[in-house]
Amino acid sequence: MKAEILCVGTEILLGDIVNTNAQFLAKELADLGISVYYQTVVGDNPDRLKEALKIAFSRANLVITTGGLGPTKDDLTKEVCAEFFNKKLELNKECSDYIKEYFKSQNKDMAKSNEKQACFPKDSIILKNDCGTAPGCIIKEDEKIVILLPGPPREMTHMFKDYAKPYLQKYQKNILKSKTLRICGMGESSVEEKIQDLIEAQTNPTIAPYAKNSEVTLRITARASSEKEAKDLIEPLKNEIYSRLSPFVYGEDDTCLEFEVAKMIINKNLTIATAESCTGGLIASKLISYPGISSVFNEGMVTYTNESKMKRLGVKEKTLEKYGAVSEQTAAEMAVGVAKNTGSNIGISVTGIAGPSGSTEQKPVGLVYIGLFINGVVKVKQLNLKGDRNRIRNITSITALNFLRLECLNI
Ligand code: ATP
Ligand code: MG
Repeated sequence: MKAEILCVGTEILLGDIVNTNAQFLAKELADLGISVYYQTVVGDNPDRLKEALKIAFSRANLVITTGGLGPTKDDLTKEVCAEFFNKKLELNKECSDYIKEYFKSQNKDMAKSNEKQACFPKDSIILKNDCGTAPGCIIKEDEKIVILLPGPPREMTHMFKDYAKPYLQKYQKNILKSKTLRICGMGESSVEEKIQDLIEAQTNPTIAPYAKNSEVTLRITARASSEKEAKDLIEPLKNEIYSRLSPFVYGEDDTCLEFEVAKMIINKNLTIATAESCTGGLIASKLISYPGISSVFNEGMVTYTNESKMKRLGVKEKTLEKYGAVSEQTAAEMAVGVAKNTGSNIGISVTGIAGPSGSTEQKPVGLVYIGLFINGVVKVKQLNLKGDRNRIRNITSITALNFLRLECLNI
């Protein structure tokens, strides 16, 4: 099956919104083993939409559209598709009742225009919208299938996963199943070097490395006739990669570093406090994004000035005078201080120069120290980063969390 993704919306053409729907659908279709050769974007214009549909069906037999299913005049996707397939729009009583109910449950009056959302091309399969009012639909004629999904990403993703995907699965003999390994603390080229032979020998499963935001992901994808067969193909390769890259593989699939670190602190019955200077609370904020962290996170301080470092964390004046605020010694005292003052097992600190100003010859922009105190032992890591202020702060927070993760592994 060859598919084309056709996103409808002038806002996308103008650059007002990013086409995340296309990204989502591309990934999902790849997982299903359906080839996507083209993605198209067209504005809310009936002639151009019809033209885009015509072109799409000249090179694909499945077209998935998003957007333009709403109640307003410029929402035209259903109407144009009906015309393309020469089908009349018919009111669906069940849908019309559902939409009326939906408005009632939201304590809102239903506008007359909403009725149009309950009209579908004759013989189409209706896809329920569990997150909004506009249902989607599937029109199939001969070998051509068009699936109409709504524009709002939350509505679109739910509708695709719950209704469109099971429909498409019936057409696929083989499934594609992926496992993503997430790696932090190793660069992309070092990762590739370690598994070069596996990458060169890949057939089924395949290995795709990506680098993004200070981490590397390896996507292992197997083509198989069942979930079980795919899993059996992936498992040995996954284990081999673990044996070569451990302990840098921090998690699998839809997780993130901060969640894995938070889970680790909770599982090991530890408590933590943070003292941040140049990251300004980023580390605390990342950890706090994990629900359940409240049982182990004691306190997060942003100690920016020297006075604050002395007053809140007990950093010695002498240390600041002799070595400076951005120094190994200050980072160590900050980490010890925040752990002691809050009665935590772990104290993590950051002090550095995020730029663009504030550097000296000895202390350039990007010089950062991360202090880590765990159960009586203090360690400091020095970073020499490149980039702008945001990049330095972001990489520092990721490196600090990974430093913490690696040190906690052995507790
Ligand atoms: P509505 O009932 O809200 O009108 P709709 O199905 O008619 O839904 P659109 O009007 O095309 O969809 O888009 C509604 C909103 O959904 C847009 O304002 C935008 O925020 C979001 N959206 C639409 N298309 C995309 C896309 N391709 N990627 C990301 N977001 C999108
Ligand atoms: Mg709309």
